[in-house]
Amino acid sequence: MGLNDTLKCPGMDKTLSTFPIEFDCPQCNAIVEIWSDELKCRCTQCGTVVFNPDPSVKKPDPKTFESKANPIDELLELAMDFGSSAVTILDADHIQIDNQIADLCRETKCPNYGSSPTCPPHVRGPDWLKNNIHKTSQAIMVEIEVPQEQMYSDKRKEISKLLHFIVIQIERAAHEKGLVQSTAFAGGSCKNIQCSEHSYCNFLNGDGICRHPDLSRPSVSGYGINMNHLLKNAGWFKKSNNSFAPTSSHYGLVLIG
Ligand code: SF4
Repeated sequence: MGLNDTLKCPGMDKTLSTFPIEFDCPQCNAIVEIWSDELKCRCTQCGTVVFNPDPSVKKPDPKTFESKANPIDELLELAMDFGSSAVTILDADHIQIDNQIADLCRETKCPNYGSSPTCPPHVRGPDWLKNNIHKTSQAIMVEIEVPQEQMYSDKRKEISKLLHFIVIQIERAAHEKGLVQSTAFAGGSCKNIQCSEHSYCNFLNGDGICRHPDLSRPSVSGYGINMNHLLKNAGWFKKSNNSFAPTSSHYGLVLIG
């Protein structure tokens, strides 16, 4: 150990290993400074939340979270720390499972249908969930809210990746707390989100090995989960239902059990 190390305050380690990165705010083009260990920051000029897409960003380790009285509170806090705009907890009674919602994936000829294991017909679907929903006591719903135009830009994929990342971290942390039936859901097909540069899903149409294992979770719609009903019960529906709103939201869900 060098002399400087013995004199150094241990609390300085984190400070010394982080550095500010400049991003352009997608809304107003102002420079937004985000520290390398932070996932997001609000633009001081227009208030838009800007995400740090750098995969080397130092994310909080769920294992390092201090033990608190209520494990659910820890999971909610984790969701916010990983970059959610909002998070809420709902009783399992509010979960409605409707086969017709899952059928829409096929009937509306969704381009994601059949493209990967995260979408119908490759997910276990609403009938499986109906038979297993009794294992769920509560549901954690997370929201990522972004400026409307970001949903129609090349940032959309990064937003989807972040949503999948957050619900996977909540699911993992729940398992570590003994809530081993907890199951995460997000939205979209991992073929679009993780493998868009490839012409096919390697798991379904290649050698059976996923190129990005454990980076994605199935879509809520593929399991027939009525998100509008959950949004209403969370008091989030009006916001999500307004097509003239300046922001757009992505939602993920973790069934806790
Ligand atoms: S190979 Fe790509 S598209 Fe197929 S399951 Fe894995 S991440 Fe999804």
